[in-house]
Amino acid sequence: MSTFYVEKLDFKEPKKIEDMFDALLQKSTDTVEELESWLKKQSELFDAIEEAMSGHYIDFQCQSDSKDAKDIFEHDQSVIDPLYKKYASLFDDAFLSSKAKDQLDPLLYEQIIKRKQNAKEIFRLDNIDLEVKEDALATNYFEHTGGLTVHWGDEELTLSELSPYIQDSDRDTRQKALTLLYEAIQSKETDLQQIMNELIVLRQQKAQNAGLPNFRDYMFKKYERFDYTPEDCNVLAESIRKYVKPLKEKLQKQHKTELEVDTYRPWDRQGVPQGQKPLQPFKTIEELVNKSKVILENLDPRFAELLTTMNERGMLDLSSRKGKAPGGFCSNLPVSELSFIFMNASRTQDDMITLLHEMGHCIHNDLMRKQPIGDYRETPMESAELASMSMELLSMDQWSLFYENEADLIRAKKEQLKGIIDFLPVGMIIDQFQHWMYENPEHTPADRNKKYKELMMELDSNVVDWQGFEKWQQSAWLRVLHIFEVPFYYIEYVIAQLGAVQIYKHYREHPEQALKNYKSALALGSSKSLPEVYEAAGIRFDFSESMIQELMLFLEKEIEQLN
Ligand SMILES: [Zn+2]
Repeated sequence: MSTFYVEKLDFKEPKKIEDMFDALLQKSTDTVEELESWLKKQSELFDAIEEAMSGHYIDFQCQSDSKDAKDIFEHDQSVIDPLYKKYASLFDDAFLSSKAKDQLDPLLYEQIIKRKQNAKEIFRLDNIDLEVKEDALATNYFEHTGGLTVHWGDEELTLSELSPYIQDSDRDTRQKALTLLYEAIQSKETDLQQIMNELIVLRQQKAQNAGLPNFRDYMFKKYERFDYTPEDCNVLAESIRKYVKPLKEKLQKQHKTELEVDTYRPWDRQGVPQGQKPLQPFKTIEELVNKSKVILENLDPRFAELLTTMNERGMLDLSSRKGKAPGGFCSNLPVSELSFIFMNASRTQDDMITLLHEMGHCIHNDLMRKQPIGDYRETPMESAELASMSMELLSMDQWSLFYENEADLIRAKKEQLKGIIDFLPVGMIIDQFQHWMYENPEHTPADRNKKYKELMMELDSNVVDWQGFEKWQQSAWLRVLHIFEVPFYYIEYVIAQLGAVQIYKHYREHPEQALKNYKSALALGSSKSLPEVYEAAGIRFDFSESMIQELMLFLEKEIEQLN
């Protein structure tokens, strides 16, 4: 149907795919040479599956109201993915029981052995069926949220398209836009809560099947979080409460003064002062792409080349429209050796950042293609997001391309740095909320809302006056698609953000060295542990209290310098 991705296998004939898997499983892996070539063939097969599945997923996200796209995607989820998972586990078993395993170069194979052993520990055949149901529920979430629109004057807008109005200098406009947004989400609350209820039951069952007390512990293993524990997340939440929350409150108080408002209401958080317009770094998608290309070119010509090629090959779908799923992501296409960027641009500063962010993922995918072992070309989110979040910051000294006006340029930079401070407490709330949900699987939808609000009060700024709009606080989590689609995937943003600020700090002092380190770290893929990858980037995998304190002091100073 589509053209931008390669379909090497016929997904309509799953039996043939199964035969290929079986044939490979029959092959001898008794010598190191045999085992290494067997691993390579396995990677090739898996790459073919990943490319086509990603392509189908993208097709569906780009047209979430298309029945054809949905059917193909659902076929993958119900037939191909279970097959893939079953065989991935059989391949792991075969690898771990190979006679040659212990003769492999330990330096090269240490990580892969560790990961496959971990995967084997938690794999249960019974869970595959549960995951098919889990995926169907996540799809259902997108069907409910992807089609949401609101009436704005004569226009019908998607929720992403409301963004500029939420930042408007006119307070009534902001309030109206944010009200429409929350009302649209709340109109789906009953359905979304029901989806969450079902997800929690399924997920708890998966954990029990794997012999673990709760889904949180299961996901820590599943995400291969070898270098930190749930307790570390709690400590990090406390450090953020201690050092980030007060800084966020200070900045919001300044913002309140700029807006000249008596009370700081939810719709003031993103508002711009009277006489100002929301930042508009570009007018057309073409302009966004071309200017980003120049920025990338100056960092490394290869970075720009990637964007150019992806654009030529139809691997960018950047603008917002009805029927397109919300959000933004970058998908790796291992057979094409390129990536696809999906996002919902509505001409805001956020959109410019999103493209540069997703380009960080594309660059990461590109740099690690030279990794000889297929598994090492897949990275955990803590390093994937380090690549993308750092790219946002590494581009900052070239933003004059997007902002000819000096005042706008300063505003944009300030917004970016403030955005980090705004985000950290929110990221932590989303993480802690999920810990709580799965530690207490018996809770009700009402408990869920109550808990979210409680966490907001505890970890987020208390400058905002929510009076009369507490319901918004309670239902804010319904908009976080990760909670539904990729549970527990959020703390990585917090960890990686702290890493990205460290990289940026180096970049401000020694730009060339920092960029060199960035590329070396990315090229490692997952062949090394996270602390080692961070070390290669010239930074520390460290989210201790003293590190948070140091980084907040740095950001505060950077913002003051812009004033
Ligand atoms: Zn990302």
